[in-house]
Amino acid sequence: MSDITPEPPKPTTPEEISRKLEDFIKTSLGGQVLFTRLDSPSHREQAEAEPPEPEAEPDHNAVFDFRLKPAEIKAYLDRFVIRQDEAKKVLATAVCDHYNHARMLREMRRSGGKIVEFSKQNVLIIGPTGVGKTYLVKHIADLIGVPFVKADATKFSETGYVGGDVDDLVRDLVAKAGGDVELAEHGIIYLDEVDKLATHGDRLGRDVSGRGVQTAMLKLMEETEVPLMAPNDIRSQMQLMFDSRRGQRPAKEVVNTRNILFIVSGAFSGIDKIIEKRAARGSIGFGAALSEKPATETLLRQSRTQDFIDFGFEAEFIGRLPVRVVCDALTAEDLFQIMKSSEGSLIRQFEREFSAYGVRAGFEDDALRLIAGRAAEEKTGARGLVTAWEQVLRDFKFELPSLGLPELRVDGALVNDPPTALAACREQAQLFHADVRSAEVQAFADAFKRAHGLELNFTVDAVHALIGRVEREGSSVEALCARLFKDYPFGLQLVARNSGNTSFVLDRNAVEDADHHLSELVARSYREAHSDPLTSA
Ligand code: ADP
Repeated sequence: MSDITPEPPKPTTPEEISRKLEDFIKTSLGGQVLFTRLDSPSHREQAEAEPPEPEAEPDHNAVFDFRLKPAEIKAYLDRFVIRQDEAKKVLATAVCDHYNHARMLREMRRSGGKIVEFSKQNVLIIGPTGVGKTYLVKHIADLIGVPFVKADATKFSETGYVGGDVDDLVRDLVAKAGGDVELAEHGIIYLDEVDKLATHGDRLGRDVSGRGVQTAMLKLMEETEVPLMAPNDIRSQMQLMFDSRRGQRPAKEVVNTRNILFIVSGAFSGIDKIIEKRAARGSIGFGAALSEKPATETLLRQSRTQDFIDFGFEAEFIGRLPVRVVCDALTAEDLFQIMKSSEGSLIRQFEREFSAYGVRAGFEDDALRLIAGRAAEEKTGARGLVTAWEQVLRDFKFELPSLGLPELRVDGALVNDPPTALAACREQAQLFHADVRSAEVQAFADAFKRAHGLELNFTVDAVHALIGRVEREGSSVEALCARLFKDYPFGLQLVARNSGNTSFVLDRNAVEDADHHLSELVARSYREAHSDPLTSA
C-alpha cells in the first residue's frame, strides 16, 4: 500500500463551472451567447471584493467636488486641440453646468434639502470626421476624472439592433471606472456617427433599427436603471448566482443614468440643404436677401430642431440634445498648427519613437507644411496626417533603428523624396561609423601611451584595415586591438631599450599580421644595436 495519501479532490469553482457551461452552450448554440464580461474589472472586483459596507462613501476624486470654471476647461483644451473655439466654449459650459448640478444634487441629498430638478445639458456636435470631436470629449473626461466611453452608432444600426447593446455602453462605463458604479454614474458616453440613425420614412431595413437605437438611447438619456449584468451574459449571471449564495452581493446591481452626460456627434451631410430650403422659404434671416450662397458651416450654425426632424430624427431624441455646436473642417494651416503646437502632436510621438533607438529626430517646418498640404487633400481631418506621415516615414522607421545614426533631420527634401534621403542616411551612417571607429583606434593608442609610455601611430591605411576587420569579425575596435597587440607592450619595450625609439608607425601590415610585424621590429632593433658600425658601414 502506498504511504502517499491521495489529495482530496478540490471543489469545483464557480469559474470552472461557468467555463464548462460556456463550452457546452457554445457548442450547442454556436456563438449566440455573450461570455465577455466576467473578466471586466467591475466583475472581477465584485467577485473578489469583500461584501461591501453600504454606508461607506467611496473616496472619490475631483468629480464630486467639481469646482472648475468654463474658461479653465477651455484653457486646458487649448493646450491640445487646435481651433474649434466655439465647440470648446460650448462643451466647457455644458460640462460645468452638468457637473455643478450633479455636485449640488449630492450636497442637497446629503443635507436632506429639497431636491430641485434640472434638465440635462446633453450635447450634439455637428462636424466632419477627424476634426477633434472625440479628442475634445476625451480630454474633458480626463480633466474632470470621469470615465469615458465612445461608440459608433453604426455599430448598433448596421448589425441589426439587439435589445441590450445600447445598455452595454453604460456597463462599459462601469468597467472603465474600475467597477466603481457611482463614478460610472457620472461618466460621459459619446456616440459618434449618430446621423446614421436617421430614418427616412422607410419602415423597413436599417431605418427600423435606426429608430430602435434612437429610442433606446433616449431612454438612457432621460433616466433609467441599467442592470450591471447583461441579461444574455450567462457567465455574469452565474457569477451573480454564486455570489448571492455565498452571501456576497454587489453594492449596487443597477447603474442609474441620471447623471451620465451624453454627447453625440455626426457629419450630418445633407442637412445643410434642408436648412437652406427652410431659409429660402424665408423662415430664417439670411434667406431671400442674400445673393451669395452661405457657406455650409454658416448654414449648420443656423440649424433648428425641425431641421433634424426633417433629416430623420425622432423629435423626442433630438429634443434631449439641447446643446448643439458645430466643429469646423480643418485647413492645411490648422493641420500645420496641430503638428507644431498641440501637446498631443503626432510629431512628439514620432520623436519619442525614434529616440527609443537613440535617434534624435528633428522636424523642419517645410516638412510639416508639405505634409499638412497632403493631409488636407485627404479630407479626413487630422487623421490624414497619420496617413501622409506613414507613407513618408515607413522605410525610415524600419531601417533607421539599425543604422545607428544619432540624428535624423526630417526636412522638405526628405518628404519629397524619401528613398534618396534614406540612401543619404545610409552613406552618412557609414561615414559616421568610420569616424567613431577611427576615434576608437586613437583612443586605444592614447591609452597605450598612458600605460606604457610608448607612442603608436596608425597610418590611414592601418585604420581602414582595422575598421574592415572590426566589421568583418563583428567585434569592437577596443577588443580587436587588445587581441592583436597584446604582446606589443613587452615587445616594444625591448625595441625601445635597444634603439631608444619610443614612437612607432603601424601600417596595414601591422594590422594584417601583428605578431610578425612585432618580431621584425624586435629583430631589427637587436641587429642594429649589436652590429659592428665598421662592418655594417
Ligand atoms: P473626430 O472628430 O472624428 O472625433 P478625433 O478627435 O478622433 O476626430 O481626431 C483624430 C486625431 O486627430 C486626434 O486623436 C488628434 O490626435 C488629432 N486631431 C483632430 N483634430 C484635432 C485638433 N483640432 N487639434 C489637435 N489635434 C487634433
